[in-house]
Amino acid sequence: MIEQKSIEHLRNSIDIADVVGAYVSLKRSGSSLVGLCPFHDDKSPSMHVSSNRGLYHCFACGAGGDAIKFVMEYEKLSYPQAIEKLASMFGIELEYSNEKTQKKDNSLKEILELLNNYYKTELFNPANIAALNYLKERALSPAMIEKFELGWAPPSQNTINLLQKNEIEASKAFSAGAIKNSERGVYASFSNRITFPIYNHIGSIVGFGGRTISDHPAKYINSPQSEIFDKSRVLYGYDKARAAIFKSGEVIICEGYMDCIMLHQAGFFNAVAVLGTALTPKHLPLLKKENIKVILSFDSDTAGQNAALRSAELLSRSSIDGKVVLIEGGKDPAELVAANRQSELASLYKGGVELVEFVLRKKAAAMSLQTPMDKIKALDVLREYLGALRPEIISFYEPLVAQILDINPHDFSLRKNVKIPQNNQNWGINNNFRSFKPLRNSRFKAPQDEIPNPQAYIQNTNKRDILALSVLKNILLNNEYKKIALPLLNAQMFKDVRYYNAFVNGDESVLRSLELDESLELYDAKQFKSALNRLVCSFLESEKNRIANSSEDNKAAKIRELTIAIDKLKKEM
Ligand code: ATP
Ligand code: MN
Repeated sequence: MIEQKSIEHLRNSIDIADVVGAYVSLKRSGSSLVGLCPFHDDKSPSMHVSSNRGLYHCFACGAGGDAIKFVMEYEKLSYPQAIEKLASMFGIELEYSNEKTQKKDNSLKEILELLNNYYKTELFNPANIAALNYLKERALSPAMIEKFELGWAPPSQNTINLLQKNEIEASKAFSAGAIKNSERGVYASFSNRITFPIYNHIGSIVGFGGRTISDHPAKYINSPQSEIFDKSRVLYGYDKARAAIFKSGEVIICEGYMDCIMLHQAGFFNAVAVLGTALTPKHLPLLKKENIKVILSFDSDTAGQNAALRSAELLSRSSIDGKVVLIEGGKDPAELVAANRQSELASLYKGGVELVEFVLRKKAAAMSLQTPMDKIKALDVLREYLGALRPEIISFYEPLVAQILDINPHDFSLRKNVKIPQNNQNWGINNNFRSFKPLRNSRFKAPQDEIPNPQAYIQNTNKRDILALSVLKNILLNNEYKKIALPLLNAQMFKDVRYYNAFVNGDESVLRSLELDESLELYDAKQFKSALNRLVCSFLESEKNRIANSSEDNKAAKIRELTIAIDKLKKEM
């Protein structure tokens, strides 16, 4: 069992925007964030996320809740599993009252540690001198072999023997990714390979990478995905680079184990590597830190450039700052270090292309820009991408977009809904383009609201019943108000009785939509009393009208009574 106080600590340390943002691309809209709801086939962004309230809510399908609920629903996890996932995403330690769950992970970890120690010794076994020679040939220093705990996985049977000798259950060895099953029986996941133990960001071993030193067609392999190993979440070397990353304010992300290790060897202690993937949303929690900039150091081959584009797009959409550095001439960082060219690397890392600029240039380069029509289409594509960034940042890129597309910077705006003048004859040719300089002082123009009205959920009511709904929202958020108002409210005060019913029945989805409805004001005590008075007053007025037009007994007395009550309320206002 996870201790309740740990759960509280977790809740207080995470921002729901980071959690949801790790799975869904979110755009700012006013003080909240919006994105496509992953829980129904959402065509326009209907899901709102409020950091202040710690809630997400889909105004279209009604899904919603807190960060833990989001992870449960998205990843189809149980409550404790979702908490563990969040804890590992954000590097938060959980305490357990009964050690069971943790023990399970520990036992997998122990298996990996056993293997790691074995592989490390095997590297120095004279029988495996070829492995050590290979590392020497690649100019790897003994210090790095030690720091990154490189090893040698001998033939499969040796590893199986080791596991048996240590009485490791086969099922556990499977779960740890130590062994695999095939038609020909059980075999070790790693054999005849240099091993690279993979640690997560808090320094727990979660798997291995392995490199062949012969011409095996799979140059590298990783541990299979498992309960503890997810290659799209881990950044290799992060545990060792962490201090340097925070000290320098920069993290260098490269493509491979060798690149990462060789960068450390050259003194770039803030280097980490992805494990054969581009960056994924699951990496973001490790990178989305105040004051940390990312340097994407990818190969300049097609695969590397594509990975750089995808990664730069992901990072910039998540408001992470950084740049892309591609090494020309088909070299990777490991090769430059091995060739003693670290000073070149240092100057490359000082330069680079800012992430958004990189994405804009890459996207434009992939399109035809011959005719005015081509350019408009390209402009739409670039706008679409820029539309996902913080609105205040967009206008900085207007001169750059003008330059890339070769159009007159005065003829367009990057914000949607701003039409390019129809009568302009100046496309492309003879434009008075100035070379790209970010407009640091360019005035911030309020962005057009491109996001569908969050009040869509209430469209069915003929008129929005702002007063009644505001009172309801304030009651939801304040117990004192609730005590005052509860005896006075009734269903007839609501044009759309669904809201009152939701309140009475505790329908969470509807109540959340009220809570996150920013057009409903939050009141202080005085404002609340006044709003409540107005609401009650208008109800009494309508009652008075109803009775006046009815044929009830004692009409006159009832009307008199209501008039007195109304007058009294009006005086209080
Ligand atoms: P080396 O310098 O040892 O040849 P590299 O880093 O240049 O390695 P790349 O081919 O550029 O190797 O691959 C980069 C990364 O991609 C590797 O570190 C590894 O994580 C991953 N990778 C490469 N090949 C494979 C493969 N066949 N299966 C899984 N992952 C791979
Ligand atoms: Mn290489």
